[in-house]
Amino acid sequence: MNEYDVRKDIIEVGRRCWLRGWVAANDGNISVRISPDEILATATGQSKGFLTPDLIVKVDRRGHLLEGQIKPSSEILMHLLAYDERPEIRAVFHAHPPYCTAHAVAGIPLQECVLPEIVVTLGEIPLAQYGTPSTEEVPQSLLPYLQNHDAFLLENHGALTLGQDVFEAYYRMESIEHFAHIIYLARGLGSVNLLTQSQVEKLSQLRSRYGLPGEVPLCRVRDSGGGAAATGANNSPATGSETSPTAGEKSTTDQLVEQITDRILAKLLQPRS
Ligand SMILES: [Zn+2]
Repeated sequence: MNEYDVRKDIIEVGRRCWLRGWVAANDGNISVRISPDEILATATGQSKGFLTPDLIVKVDRRGHLLEGQIKPSSEILMHLLAYDERPEIRAVFHAHPPYCTAHAVAGIPLQECVLPEIVVTLGEIPLAQYGTPSTEEVPQSLLPYLQNHDAFLLENHGALTLGQDVFEAYYRMESIEHFAHIIYLARGLGSVNLLTQSQVEKLSQLRSRYGLPGEVPLCRVRDSGGGAAATGANNSPATGSETSPTAGEKSTTDQLVEQITDRILAKLLQPRS
C-alpha cells in the first residue's frame, strides 16, 4: 500500500472515530508504521473528524519529525513503544470511547469470557494503570500487557488498540466498545453469564480453523461450581475471584437491602399522630 492510501485510511478512521463520539475536541491519535523507521502519525491539536493529508506527519522510530509542519500527537510515546515491543504491528489507534472509558474510570477491566467473538479474537482486555498523559508513564503502564494483548483500557483515560493495518486497529476498537456497552447494559439488567471452560476451549479451537495465529490472552470463565457468575452494577469483576450469587439466589447484600427497604416503607406508611 502506498503512502497516499495510508494517509487516506488514517483520515477515514479519524472521521469514523469522531462520528461515533469516541473523541471530544482534539482527543485521540492514530499512527501507521510504513517502513522499518518511518511512522505516519496524526499531528497534535487536531480534531480527528476533519483530518487532511497535511495534518498527518511523518516521524522516525524515536518520534523525531521527518516530514510535516506540525508536531506529532503528544501521545506518540505509547505508539512508539507498541512498535518497539511488537515488530509485527503496523498500526496503533487511541481514542476515548465512552463505554470503554467508563470501565477504565470505574477501574473495571473487560476480562470475562462473555461474547464468543471477543473470546476468539481478543480474549481478556486488560486495564493499564493510570499514567500522566503525554509522559513516559503511559507507555510504561502498557509494558506488562503489550506482548500478549491487542486491545487495552487505560485507567481514567481511554482505550488503545493495535493492528496489522489501521482498519484492523479501528475494528478492534469498535469491538471492545461494543463489548463494553453490552457488559454495561447486562450489569444493569442484573446478571452477566460467563461462558464455561469447555465453551471457551471450543472457541479456542476455532482460532486455528479461521487461520488466526497464536493464542489470545485468557479471559475469566464461569466458576466450576456451576451457575451463572452474576455481577451486579456495583460489583467490580476486576477481583476475578469473588463468589457471586447464582441466578435466582439472593446475596446477603440483596437480603439486607430488602430488609432495610421494608423497614423504611413500614415507617413511612405509619399513620401520623
Ligand atoms: Zn487520550
